[in-house]
Amino acid sequence: MSRPRGVVPVRPDLAEVEVRLNTNESPLPPPEEWRAELQAEIATLPFNRYPDRKATALRNALGQAHDVGADEVFCANGSNEVLQCLLLAYGGAGRNVALFEPTYALHRHIAELTATEVVAGWRTADFRLDLDVVDDVVDRHQPVITFLCSPNNPTGMSEQPEVVRHVLDRSPGLVVVDEAYGQFAPRSALQLRADEVPGADRLVVVRTFSKTWSMAACRLGYLVASPEVVAACELAALPYHLDAITQAAGRLALHHDKEMQARVAMLVEERGRLQAALAELPVESWPSDANFILFRPTSRDGAALWRDLVEQSVLIRDCTAWPGLEGCLRVTVGTAAENERFLTALEQSLGDGR
Ligand code: PMP
Repeated sequence: MSRPRGVVPVRPDLAEVEVRLNTNESPLPPPEEWRAELQAEIATLPFNRYPDRKATALRNALGQAHDVGADEVFCANGSNEVLQCLLLAYGGAGRNVALFEPTYALHRHIAELTATEVVAGWRTADFRLDLDVVDDVVDRHQPVITFLCSPNNPTGMSEQPEVVRHVLDRSPGLVVVDEAYGQFAPRSALQLRADEVPGADRLVVVRTFSKTWSMAACRLGYLVASPEVVAACELAALPYHLDAITQAAGRLALHHDKEMQARVAMLVEERGRLQAALAELPVESWPSDANFILFRPTSRDGAALWRDLVEQSVLIRDCTAWPGLEGCLRVTVGTAAENERFLTALEQSLGDGR
């Protein structure tokens, strides 16, 4: 039997713990009214029929929400599948995509799965994009896609519009801005599309329902891009890839925009509280426009600290072995009670000095 391609498997942290702050989900369930509306809709679904292949109602609703046409929206099973469709459509053997490390590991992983070469540059020591590095990578390799991640997972900062514009000017191909955490940030590349900046037809903004919309279980993501990019992704997706329940779930969620915004506001406030608390501890931490914070203990080994937290039933993300993130840990912003559990465990572990 032939071996699968030699890519490093992506393993979620599976430990059984009371406080899970490791995968950047929403700590809150979706609104009860949404659940009731979805149940009512499921009761009437024609389950013997394939779902709407074009997800027309959902795309119309998303188009309205973003003030774009339904033909500028493509939906898939989580933004990971959106990224996969983009790479199937535009990547492949003999082509390359650019990204800037450290960044979301799945950009590289999915590119490699689709036999697309990855050309990478490094961020600055404080995890900002180095535009000289961007220019060098893009000029030398002429990538079919340049990936940005704003806010960047796992480092947390979002990109200024001037930076995205610069990358767009310089890149020959698509510029894909992964905004999985976009609602937590003060800026979005969607504004550049709305402003019709030069090259806006090559700008792709990817979003998800997994974080702010409290719907990680549903697996729904989408992109906003030119109709040509949407058509290319439709060709790459399998027929009927997006089931009818997920389509309904996303469409109905958009009725609850106010609740979503309230959740974002609560998490942004909690993020500020966590940042202030971290500033008082022997850790280095980085600014965040997302629902997570990257930090590095300065008095203890990061991996040992991570294990101590697990022992106290608090699971965060161990990034210590990720290239460029030596000694770093990432904590998702949770409810006030969860954050308190995390801070108490952290203070104890840092004081322990084991
Ligand atoms: N992009 C980024 C930057 C992410 O952090 C994640 C989730 N970890 C995703 C995309 C994928 O999210 P989903 O497939 O749940 O939409």
